[in-house]
Amino acid sequence: MNASIEDATLPTTHARSAGAPGTGDAAGRYDVIVIGGGQSGLSAGYHLKQQGLSFVILDAARRVGDAWRQRWDSLRLFTPARFDGLDGMPFPAPANHFPTKDEMADYLEAYAAYFALPVVSAVRVMRLSKAGESFVVETNGRRFEARQVVVAMSKYQKPFVPEFAGMIDPNVHQLHSVDYRNPGQLDDGDVLLVGAANSAAEIARDLAPGRRVYVSGRHPGHVPMRIDSGVALNVVLPLLFRIVFHRILTVDTPMGRNARQKLEAGGAPLIRVKPKDLDAIGIERVARVAGVRDGRPLLEGGVTLDVANVVWCTGFTPGLDWLDLPIFDAEGHVVQRRGVTNVPGLYILGLGFLYSYSSMMIQGVGRDAAYIVGRAADRAAVHDERS
Ligand SMILES: Cc1cc2nc3c(=O)[nH]c(=O)nc-3n(C[C@H](O)[C@H](O)[C@H](O)COP(=O)(O)OP(=O)(O)OC[C@H]3O[C@@H](n4cnc5c(N)ncnc54)[C@H](O)[C@@H]3O)c2cc1C
Repeated sequence: MNASIEDATLPTTHARSAGAPGTGDAAGRYDVIVIGGGQSGLSAGYHLKQQGLSFVILDAARRVGDAWRQRWDSLRLFTPARFDGLDGMPFPAPANHFPTKDEMADYLEAYAAYFALPVVSAVRVMRLSKAGESFVVETNGRRFEARQVVVAMSKYQKPFVPEFAGMIDPNVHQLHSVDYRNPGQLDDGDVLLVGAANSAAEIARDLAPGRRVYVSGRHPGHVPMRIDSGVALNVVLPLLFRIVFHRILTVDTPMGRNARQKLEAGGAPLIRVKPKDLDAIGIERVARVAGVRDGRPLLEGGVTLDVANVVWCTGFTPGLDWLDLPIFDAEGHVVQRRGVTNVPGLYILGLGFLYSYSSMMIQGVGRDAAYIVGRAADRAAVHDERS
């Protein structure tokens, strides 16, 4: 189900405390509002439905799955289909198929429709605050209230670009990887990819034919095998995804806590494209970009590059500045334990290593969603007993 904010009536949901289905109680309040309708928000919705709570899922995008649909054209998932299903609905493809980003987007759309999840699209939350016992959700249209809120989104919401990008000559075509789709978007001439992690490696491979491509930055290491090889598909990936990432590397184990620190400090290793693949197609690996000189990107060591295009593969910030509640620590990280924040009734889902290494992956989000929805249901039951 995919409604827009202009629709007169909000979508039908399982309205435990509702005056009318899908409209929350008589005053239009919900038990739970989910902000974000990607795989995290849909997983929360699936479990909220199981618990019989009234809820709505608000999403800024126009269509369920758009976070995937809007990624670059050649992107394929690094997880085969058997690890790409959410709770209650396997991914509809052979187990070892690596879905395209559009297949993943369509799967999410089908998931929302199959479970009749009440997603309201094209609604951007501008502010989340509290008034007494209720959460107040202010959007680009109407205002919502709920007793509890789940913020459900990955850390990839707001592209990060260093400030010195603004000093690069205006004739150089600059874009962030979030806006990159295919080589046709770029001007003729050389390209500098700033950042050397997975997005830079994949985009470099896309751009290499017919032009000079530089990849700048520290090499993050790489997975020492082809992920589509028989041994990877049948032995290593199942072991890694189901056991290591899901059961061993959790915040409850010393190994997990160690891995979490490393992930936060250094990012993930290259998964599909290896350094030798980049070498084979003539990609030039250069030092980090340190600043700008005479309108040109300046590398550490003092070399400037005269390129026609710069693609910033420099990552993201979570983009939670609309969250007007005291849930951040001094470094700006959300204070939480398994997604339960220090503001009673507020939960978070989809961030890296929320509980385990798999928390930010499709196969891991369902367990986190079930956990926080369980806490939300307990809290709703206590509220019902009191009132
Ligand atoms: C390039 C790339 C490839 C990846 N490949 C894989 C893979 O192969 N396998 C795997 O398991 N994982 C992969 N991941 C990790 C993860 O599965 C994806 O990032 C996934 O999109 C995360 O889903 P999500 O629902 O948590 O967040 P998102 O997909 O980011 O969805 C968040 C939703 O929230 C909405 N939103 C944001 N702010 C607001 C607001 N203020 N108000 C209302 N709505 C808002 C957005 O519109 C969006 O629809 C990949 C990530 C990236 C970036």
